[in-house]
Amino acid sequence: MSEGGWLRAATLLALLLLGRVAAGATVNGIRLWSGPEGTRAVFELTGPVEHRVFALSDPDRVVIDLPNTSTASSLALPDGRGVVASVRTGPRAGGDLRVVLELNGASKPKTFLLAPTEQYGHRLVVDLPAAEATPVVRRAPAAVERGRDVVVAIDAGHGGEDPGASGRAGVEEKEVVLAIARRVAEEINSTPGMRAVLTRGGDYFVPLRKRTELAHQTQADFFMSIHADSYRDRDAKGATVYVLSDKAASDEQSLLLAQRENASDLIGGVSLADKDQLLARVLLDLSQSAALSASTAAGQRLIRRMSTVTSMRRLQVQQAPFLVLKSPDIPSVLVETAYISNPREESSLRNPGYQATLATALRQGIVDYFTANPPQGSYFAAPSSPSTTTGEPVRHVVARGETLSAVAERYRVTSASIRRSNSMKTDVVRVGQVLTIPPG
Ligand SMILES: [Zn+2]
Repeated sequence: MSEGGWLRAATLLALLLLGRVAAGATVNGIRLWSGPEGTRAVFELTGPVEHRVFALSDPDRVVIDLPNTSTASSLALPDGRGVVASVRTGPRAGGDLRVVLELNGASKPKTFLLAPTEQYGHRLVVDLPAAEATPVVRRAPAAVERGRDVVVAIDAGHGGEDPGASGRAGVEEKEVVLAIARRVAEEINSTPGMRAVLTRGGDYFVPLRKRTELAHQTQADFFMSIHADSYRDRDAKGATVYVLSDKAASDEQSLLLAQRENASDLIGGVSLADKDQLLARVLLDLSQSAALSASTAAGQRLIRRMSTVTSMRRLQVQQAPFLVLKSPDIPSVLVETAYISNPREESSLRNPGYQATLATALRQGIVDYFTANPPQGSYFAAPSSPSTTTGEPVRHVVARGETLSAVAERYRVTSASIRRSNSMKTDVVRVGQVLTIPPG
């Protein structure tokens, strides 16, 4: 290179370096999410930033100072959400940016940076925990004669920062799976002897580990995670039911899927401090093989019901290493309800009628499982005891899709005895019909 060349290169390098320093990072977006655990502010950045965060009172607010940072001209500030009443920004002397979150209550901020993922660049996360997040430990009152309610944890995948997969028409996995999860929970709550717990009830992110923790806190008897799949080939279709694999995945596609679903924590945003549970995970692994065969039995019951209302990609339960299924003692399944990448299935997924039909099939599968494998001391273990201990007949409200023989099997009586007790001429039952169940 000539002397002139060197000079030009050196000047260019100096300019580039100057440019880099002078430009600093830019805030391209600010998003707010709120859930029962607190409120989260996410700053979308062009690069990693230094940041100083402190809380002030009277009025309560959190100040975030970002040195050498500017805002994109297109930056739209979000409306208040959760503990955050409003957001404002202002440049400070020396090229710093100050962001103020006006709060409607005191909160101690916790911050961390996230490296880029497939859908996001650099992010700064500011978590504002809710004042007192006391864990909810509820158990149905011990109604000895009746048997306790079985508790079913329904887990809507993704949420908040993590949208999950999305379809061509813009339907997001996190929306449709929450809608389906809510319907399943409603159906379960109107089924005698059952109670549902949702791991998330709105559009916010819950770390994978937290989801299984919630199932344990509520002493769940069953855990079902609901998702929607996506694939490059838009013709891929059908539902799949998974259980945890303790060794390898059923096939390559299952493994890739599990890797995608497990990336949820990176996308949704979990600070490194929360990740020291690796050891706990390894310990859990040792005791979960018993839950695995129960999970497979439950999965097979689900497939039987689902296959009557939707197309299945596989008629056998598949295995893959999903982190969200790692519960040592709770039978757990993950249901990929459909391919959101398939335009037909995408439109089914957003259809309330389809959501309801699918929810009914999922509820029926769970009821089938508990009927065949009643947890000790539960309603399913002693279905006919109320009539024998108190002399009062049991009343059963017929749910959608239920047949007389299913009701009979559930209470361990014959169809004929139910017909007799209710003066029925045929086996036909209708939704909402109240049946008197004779003593078993
Ligand atoms: Zn998913």
